[in-house]
Amino acid sequence: MRKNIVAANWKMNLTKKEALSIFEQLEEVQLKDNQEIIVFSPYVFLDALKQKQKKVKVGAQNFHPAPHGAYTGKVSINHLLDLEVECVLIGHSERRMLFNESDELIKTKIDVAVENKLEIVFCCGEPIDIRNKSSHCSYVLQQMEANLFHLDHEQIKQISIAYEPVWAIGTGKTATTEQAENMHRFIRMCVEQRYGFEISNEMSILYGGSCNATNSSELFACENIDGGLIGGASLKAEELCKIISSL
Ligand code: PEP
Repeated sequence: MRKNIVAANWKMNLTKKEALSIFEQLEEVQLKDNQEIIVFSPYVFLDALKQKQKKVKVGAQNFHPAPHGAYTGKVSINHLLDLEVECVLIGHSERRMLFNESDELIKTKIDVAVENKLEIVFCCGEPIDIRNKSSHCSYVLQQMEANLFHLDHEQIKQISIAYEPVWAIGTGKTATTEQAENMHRFIRMCVEQRYGFEISNEMSILYGGSCNATNSSELFACENIDGGLIGGASLKAEELCKIISSL
């Protein structure tokens, strides 16, 4: 059954008290069988969230691909496994652009997370100059081919895709439902061509980019949009709960 997911990307925000308060309110939300909430938290709150966890999945925003070693300041997948974290976010445009993460590194991180049986939300999406040239489809296909499509038919089942047009992230400029649905349909078609109908039909494809409580219902009503990856609007429990109720 295809899952409908709201995933919160808290980025480098919140205090521990605020994080726990939002998390506890999310734990009270009633979910249907096919619905899921994921919180991608700063590392420093992961342990505390896990102590409070009932059904909300706890995810990390990043990790270093080496299992251990002399990498001062880094966190490995083994640290995440030790905390029993269930999910990781890979390929976010902020990591690609601000931290120069290459396709090769993203592919390696996907392989490490797959090998360690973590759920992965893989982000892709085009910058504004690519959208203006109408090259967004080929751009996103290239990202999936470079980062993801080497996985086999079993491994790909650990992946949900978040389509996040870079021009919509944190800008207040949400993609129109038509722009978003067209891209989601295209992404599903690419997955189908590579992995077949059943896998593409089961895959959750989330929209990210200035999604909020005002526009989420319209976006989530689209056939190929199975929820959202939410940044700014995930920092207030009330707004996030409204977004979840529109799943
Ligand atoms: C994000 O960074 O993943 C995101 C979707 O941010 P925002 O909702 O703030 O645009």
